[in-house]
Amino acid sequence: VKRVYSFGGKTAEGKADMKNLLGGKGANLAEMCLLGLPVPAGFTITTETCNDYYADGCKLPADLLTQVWDAMKKVESDMGMKYDDTENPLLLSCRSGARSSMPGMMDTVLNIGLSSKTIPGLLKKTNNPRFVYDSYRRLIMMYADVVMEKAEGVELPGDGIRKQLDNMLDLFKKSKGYQTDTDMTADDLKQLSENFKKKVQEVLGKAFPDDAKEQLIGGIMAVFKSWNGKKAVSYRRIEGIPDAWGTAVNVQSMVFGNMGDSSATGVAFTRNPATGDNIFYGEWLVNAQGEDVVAGIRTPNPLNDDTKNEQNKHLHSMQEAIPTTYKELDAIRATLEKNYKDMLDIEFTIQDNKLYMLQCRVGKRTGTAALNMAMDMLKEGIINEETVVMRVDPAQLDELLHPIIDPASEAKVEPIVKGLPAGPGASVGRVVFTSEDAVAWERKGEKVILVREETNPEDVEGMRAAQGILTARGGMTSHAALVARGWGKSCIVGAGALHVDVVGKIAKVTGTNIVIKEGDILTLNGTKGHAYNVALELMDATENPRFQAFMTIVDKHRKMGVRTNADTPADAKIARDFGAEGIGLFRTEHMFYGEGSEQALFLLRKMILSNTLEERVAALNDLSVFVKKDMKATMLAMDTCPVTFRLLDPPLHEFVPQSAEKQAELAKALGISAEAIAKRGEALHESNPMMGHRGVRLGVTYPEVSEMQVRAIFESAAELLKEGHHPKPEIMVPVTCDVSELEFTKKIVDRVYTEVLAKFGIKEIHYLYGTMIEIPRACLLADRMAKTAQFFSFGTNDLTQMTFGFSRDDIGGFMNHYLDNRLLAADPFQTIDQDGVGQLIQFGVERGRATRSDLKVGICGEQGGDPASVDFCYRSGLNYVSCSPFRVPIARLSAAQSTI
Ligand code: ADP
Ligand code: MG
Ligand code: MG
Repeated sequence: VKRVYSFGGKTAEGKADMKNLLGGKGANLAEMCLLGLPVPAGFTITTETCNDYYADGCKLPADLLTQVWDAMKKVESDMGMKYDDTENPLLLSCRSGARSSMPGMMDTVLNIGLSSKTIPGLLKKTNNPRFVYDSYRRLIMMYADVVMEKAEGVELPGDGIRKQLDNMLDLFKKSKGYQTDTDMTADDLKQLSENFKKKVQEVLGKAFPDDAKEQLIGGIMAVFKSWNGKKAVSYRRIEGIPDAWGTAVNVQSMVFGNMGDSSATGVAFTRNPATGDNIFYGEWLVNAQGEDVVAGIRTPNPLNDDTKNEQNKHLHSMQEAIPTTYKELDAIRATLEKNYKDMLDIEFTIQDNKLYMLQCRVGKRTGTAALNMAMDMLKEGIINEETVVMRVDPAQLDELLHPIIDPASEAKVEPIVKGLPAGPGASVGRVVFTSEDAVAWERKGEKVILVREETNPEDVEGMRAAQGILTARGGMTSHAALVARGWGKSCIVGAGALHVDVVGKIAKVTGTNIVIKEGDILTLNGTKGHAYNVALELMDATENPRFQAFMTIVDKHRKMGVRTNADTPADAKIARDFGAEGIGLFRTEHMFYGEGSEQALFLLRKMILSNTLEERVAALNDLSVFVKKDMKATMLAMDTCPVTFRLLDPPLHEFVPQSAEKQAELAKALGISAEAIAKRGEALHESNPMMGHRGVRLGVTYPEVSEMQVRAIFESAAELLKEGHHPKPEIMVPVTCDVSELEFTKKIVDRVYTEVLAKFGIKEIHYLYGTMIEIPRACLLADRMAKTAQFFSFGTNDLTQMTFGFSRDDIGGFMNHYLDNRLLAADPFQTIDQDGVGQLIQFGVERGRATRSDLKVGICGEQGGDPASVDFCYRSGLNYVSCSPFRVPIARLSAAQSTI
């Protein structure tokens, strides 16, 4: 088998699309040669060889070395030097390189080939002893660390050899009074190399090999071994990279950035990776080897005179110092971008004024940069619209939709407490400890951060009023997190170190002497889950005018609809601005929560506490005024777009006040005894309310409750029609498990519909009648459900809860353990469980459409805004996904990407 692929001298046996065999680095080195760029010659040993090496119990395949020494001949003739030669010795680097980049996770050894045999020749040839001994001491340091310690699996008590040699280097510099590495003379370095070798022998019990061939073989094996190094293995687990891929080894001629002041090394991005600006962005160091830049041993200088960067004014840029070489590099930048049609991350070295390319790969970037670059490249004619759509990661869009902390100001401070990043974005405000205070302070024009031990539904008003929310308890799917994300508020939950004393209005951070008092300033980074006790600068990322232009392109390529879950006209408006094409879930009960709901809630309670049908109908009549008002305003805000109204879903006891104090208050207002209220509350109490008297079951027991809602929907639609608008209501029945429930409710709908038409003297209201599918039985009997239902909306929160038997309100106790132990790959409440719940969905869609071919199908669970779930919905043939307003653009982008 062919194990070795050569590159160098403008030719190569590999190319960019051979990453699987040659690794990313090897494939791109070959590609750069084919592009005619100056790449030091070398060869790549395939990833398959790495797998063979492991398969054979960590032995190099028998046919490898012949191929290596053959390829070496080509390298030698290209470079005009010879490996292990006394006169004109070639030095090599031995570099790792997996299919997908694993930055810094595997090992690389530089300057291989220096020995007592080759050093004299190199001294004579270069006449630069400082360079020779600098390279030698570097080789010993890296080789001892990578090949002799790590690859051999040596376990040293205390510091590793690398650290010990680093300490020696520091002590040596100190003893001579030197500030930097470059102060060291040739004699110093020669002396140090000798000391290093002694130390290696002493610590590792083995001599540093004084033989070029042995060094190379050791280097190759060490790179293979580093595939299974600790760092690499855990990185693969996190990134989901298969163990079976293996790493390639790139053996490449050394070029030297440490040959003196006409030599240098650097790293660059072809465009700014933070902003996307089409400005060459990078750092370089004179008289150094590449590792110095990344390892932060010395502070590098900027590449060019980017005047935006204050700090740069005091440093010498490469553009200023060596303009000709800079121009050459800038031309290479253009060649590479044209070839790869993307922003690249490059590594280069300058040896004695001559420029060499050592690496290129597609560069990592922020969401803002991704969007700006994609739009620029479209304008520059480098990429087409499909590629633009694919260039932005939907998860990164989040970053663009919420204000963020200015990264420069965040870098200067330490968080006082950390929690789960529940609601992305940033917020600054003064601390309050109760929902009432949040509302009151906000009314006075204060920006507030609501700090709570935990957050419960009674806090919604305060959450609405607050800029951000910080809680000591709770998980990512907790109520607070859900609501915060829906409102686009930054939110940190489960900050365990936080201890909140509501009565004393202070909070403490365990293990510190930090005390947070009412009125103190906090800045929250909801994207990271970090809280700071200073006011940090915020930036509004949506100010980027190109966001709209980008989304227009996205929509051009999107086939599936995107709706929103919104319960108020205000949210409906936000969602429309974000591009929602309708409401997929309007939760009727939400009008009984929060600010301004007092009267409606009072009437609802009155209805719940009614003892007779007459009393109940009277209360319902009063209540319908409120219900209708919200429904009408929401349909108006979404004019011409459909609005799916879900009939009342939660168990009624949720609305009966729990505390004796509140019960007494209500009793007084209703003119009944507090006992009567307590009794009714008890009567409504259920041991398992999520599976209790809720959803369609309420309407079966109290048909008049359904009737009131249906009438409110039709009457608001009729009024809007008469006013010249275009309402498109959809009536959705929740928590159904049988078509009989749908038929039962449909009778009410039909009757009320006829009555409303007559009352308003109109011929028709365009509406649909359908159901939420959230019980497994409804999926299994979808063919029957579709006989009555004109649409399905998968309520994946409840469907997941009932399919797994995981209570969504209680997963906080065990979900993390499931995830840590890899019993589950992901939290099914965040991303659809495609294996299980997904089967039910697909079965339901198929059966439903078998009965009714034009059955409209959507999803309205929290997962509707999760990119992987959106993709699953598209593949399952859904007509739309519905998600919280701030996730609408993310869903639009995900849906568009699914079609490409
Ligand atoms: P990583 O994958 O961790 O970035 P590399 O294989 O790119 O590791 O090597 C690290 C650094 O070593 C490079 O950035 C480069 O500066 C330097 N280097 C690697 N090979 C050579 C070479 N042939 N000549 C000069 N420097 C090299
Ligand atoms: Mg590199
Ligand atoms: Mg539900």
